[in-house]
Amino acid sequence: MTEPRKITIARGDGIGPEIMDATLKILKAGGANLEIEEIEIGEKVYLKGIENGMEPGAFESLRKTGIFLKAPITTPQGGGYKSLNVTTRKAFGLYANVRPCISYRPFIRTKHPDMDVVVIRENEEDLYAGIEHRQTDQVYQCLKLFSRPGCEKIIRYAFEYAKEYDRKKVSCFVKDNIMKLTDGLFHEVFNEVAKEYPEIETDSWIIDIGAARLADTPQMFDVLVMPNLYGDILSDIAAQIAGSVGLAGSANIGEHLAMFEAIHGSAPDIAGKNIANPSGLLLAAVMMLVHIHQVEEAATIHNAWLRTIEKGIHTGDIFEQGISKERVNTDTFAEAIIQHLGEKPHELKEVHYYEPKKIVARHDESTKHVKELVGVDVFVDWKDVSPNEIGEKLSKITAGDLKLKVITNRGIKVYPEGLPETFCTDHWRCRFWQDEWKKLDKNLIWQLLKNVNEAGFDTIKTENLYTFDGKLGFSEVHG
Ligand code: NAD
Repeated sequence: MTEPRKITIARGDGIGPEIMDATLKILKAGGANLEIEEIEIGEKVYLKGIENGMEPGAFESLRKTGIFLKAPITTPQGGGYKSLNVTTRKAFGLYANVRPCISYRPFIRTKHPDMDVVVIRENEEDLYAGIEHRQTDQVYQCLKLFSRPGCEKIIRYAFEYAKEYDRKKVSCFVKDNIMKLTDGLFHEVFNEVAKEYPEIETDSWIIDIGAARLADTPQMFDVLVMPNLYGDILSDIAAQIAGSVGLAGSANIGEHLAMFEAIHGSAPDIAGKNIANPSGLLLAAVMMLVHIHQVEEAATIHNAWLRTIEKGIHTGDIFEQGISKERVNTDTFAEAIIQHLGEKPHELKEVHYYEPKKIVARHDESTKHVKELVGVDVFVDWKDVSPNEIGEKLSKITAGDLKLKVITNRGIKVYPEGLPETFCTDHWRCRFWQDEWKKLDKNLIWQLLKNVNEAGFDTIKTENLYTFDGKLGFSEVHG
């Protein structure tokens, strides 16, 4: 017998301990060869004043084992607590969130009997960088950050995943008709990477219509890859319309750690009652077994689970008169799965797992671009002022050939020649550049800011305007 694989587990809060116990029992009976280290995370740790919710030593265990099976935790109400998931994802670079969403008709009620999609969500970037500012009385901002390596890693992961799991199509969801630089980058990288996988079909969707089609006709999709925020929302929708969020597991994959968990929370309303469905955590554990190369055990357990579901042995959350046969609690559901180990589903599709290749989502860092400074956006706080008043005052302020060309308010042009109907806040973006986007000496920006300050303006931030190989690296002002 080979050495057991060391893994780290956390029992979490609410129903966490119950579903973890059930899961570990099934893993053991299914022959998983594991050596388990347990860490404490969640509510109790938060309430001890540890703001990331993980006991000291937890990171060492995760670093050592590289595998984390995590039950849901309760995030205490009130401010100051950092999301443990976000901390773990970022600290360990868990860049890919993988969530299979499958329907189990006719054994679990679903509007979409043929649904079988995998949502692959970018996990580190986008609006989740957590860089937010209040800039004026009225206006708050959150920075949406996309990087080329970040996009390339997740998109390549999606294609490699499709190849590895014999999936036929990868779909990209973005909103690049509006966010031409950030979402535009994601789409551009998708098109570039897709060329390397000619055997895989691809398509791209604007997120709103793509989401509508996913909710309506999920069978037209296979693997979906998308930025963090869209993926966060759509992966829950996909899991719910497949049948129940209580059934889906997910993997968070990085180069040094992989974390596996159910997608639902700690369900405090049913905690301690032994009625929770352990399927989400169990299916996450099956993904873990595949990841650590215990593929036969993964298939045995998954097929026993499918057979149990097929026989109508259901926990309360999925129990339905006319479909289900026996209503069971957490423990008896686990027992039923154990009794079906070695059996295959008769009607649902049997699963097979193969020795996984390590998916290496490489990214190319070699390209260098010629970057030139060509202008600056100066953001100014001023309440109860008209666009013309602020525009005329600022037009008098220059530095060399650097001149005010346009002012926008929440992205809409208001000077020169704005519309009188446009509602304006106290947050003005004032764009300065030299004619024909001539290359700019940075000292002129310092000079300009000094002049703007001396004229009594409240400058809240600046954003330099660059070109890259002659192409504008910022959104243009229209209207
Ligand atoms: P939830 O997913 O815990 O519960 C939503 C509803 O689904 C509840 O009615 C619950 O009883 C039911 N439910 C969830 N899982 C179930 C299961 N396995 N079996 C049967 N029924 C189940 O969502 P919530 O109530 O919004 O959140 C509760 C807590 O969980 C919060 O503190 C939240 O922050 C936390 N949370 C943690 C994670 C995580 O650790 N990954 C994820 C989501 C929410």
